[in-house]
Amino acid sequence: MRDLDEKLHDIYAEVLRRNPGEQEFHQAVREVLSSLGPVVAKHPEYADAAVIRRLCEPERQVIFRVPWVDDAGQVQLNRGFRVQFNSALGPFKGGLRFHPSVYLGIVKFLGFEQIFKNALTGMPIGGGKGGSDFDPKGRTDAEVMRFCQSFMTELCRHIGEYVDVPAGDIGVGRREIGYLFGQYKRLTNRYESGVLTGKGLAWGGSQVRQEATGYGAVFFVNEMLKARGETYDGKRVVVSGSGNVAIYAIEKVHQLGGTVVACSDSDGYVVDEKGIDIELLKEIKDVRRGRVRDYAEARGSSVDHVVGGTIWDVPCDIALPSATQNELNGADALTLVKNGCRVVGEGANMPTTPDAIKVFDDAGVGFAPGKAANAGGVATSALEMQQNASRDSWSFEHTEERLEEIMRSIHDRCAETAEEYGTPGNYIAGANIAGFIRVADAMLALGI
Ligand code: GLU
Repeated sequence: MRDLDEKLHDIYAEVLRRNPGEQEFHQAVREVLSSLGPVVAKHPEYADAAVIRRLCEPERQVIFRVPWVDDAGQVQLNRGFRVQFNSALGPFKGGLRFHPSVYLGIVKFLGFEQIFKNALTGMPIGGGKGGSDFDPKGRTDAEVMRFCQSFMTELCRHIGEYVDVPAGDIGVGRREIGYLFGQYKRLTNRYESGVLTGKGLAWGGSQVRQEATGYGAVFFVNEMLKARGETYDGKRVVVSGSGNVAIYAIEKVHQLGGTVVACSDSDGYVVDEKGIDIELLKEIKDVRRGRVRDYAEARGSSVDHVVGGTIWDVPCDIALPSATQNELNGADALTLVKNGCRVVGEGANMPTTPDAIKVFDDAGVGFAPGKAANAGGVATSALEMQQNASRDSWSFEHTEERLEEIMRSIHDRCAETAEEYGTPGNYIAGANIAGFIRVADAMLALGI
């Protein structure tokens, strides 16, 4: 990562001072600021209007109590968050994460990333994120429902079709969006479809939304491969995670001729040399709500479940980290490079640590940052909003075509911007600068 020049360094110091202990947020801000030196040099107007300083401070942050009753009749207590980071381009937009690791610093890092990601899509959406330290693992359907209802009872006063539009993230899928939407409808007496995205197909959802983040990441990497005169054909791919992003990334890699040989969860990883059986994985994860250990068991002796170690020990041509933040460190990056990995695309948000990014950079590995590579999810959310607003619903084929087009244009915008600002092939710089300029111009136009 580049050193920050003086002005940007002062802004970063202010972020550290204002947000003590929020390591993930600091990391996300530093990564963006480290790309902005050439932009500030070329356009002093951004510095003059304190655009970057304002961008680093959320417009609004809500923290709330979420009490709920478990199946044993005990009162449980969690904390809810919604950080409305920036609305220069449209209503705040971004997912909700339910995971025990969630605290303000995680929500802020995700919300900050979302600003640039959403800007890159070219669609009219601002950036925000929310969630709770609620752990859905091992909870019954009824418990998840009561939690979602309590969460929405407070959240509903802060969101709306033209205000803030949440969606899913880790721990929040179609089931949770259903319970959240049901409670919003009950409390407001409005069938306001556009208030949440990631809805079920029968009640206002969009085709391809569920597949979009994984498919989009694979489309993005496909564009990178094309730029190098290559394709997925015959490539060995490792996808970490086994949630929504990973499942559909695996599916699309297989459709495009590559083979995904490994995936993982927080207990370990599986290596399936014949290629992950996607129908079996879907059945285990979506229907049985099981683990990758169950996948190995179902496949029999040819598939190992490895506990301990890291999935990045598995040799591959292409790595798609699609589990969670900081899951791929410097040592993992060295192993991947040594084993011949040539392209990395982030399906998750900030899964690669800064020292791992440096290893990839030094080794000439093509690297696609999450805010570009995984933007297909939120882009398809914007398509869902568009369908809701026009009371329409599009076919799978049409929606997937739109997604592919959007990913191609994000890729091209990143590549062209990197070139323009003197760092050809650097998708991190391209994504940060292109996303920044779109938001910054809107902020300048809207005044202080
Ligand atoms: N949570 C997803 C992301 O990280 C999607 C957000 C959305 O669809 O609003 O981009």
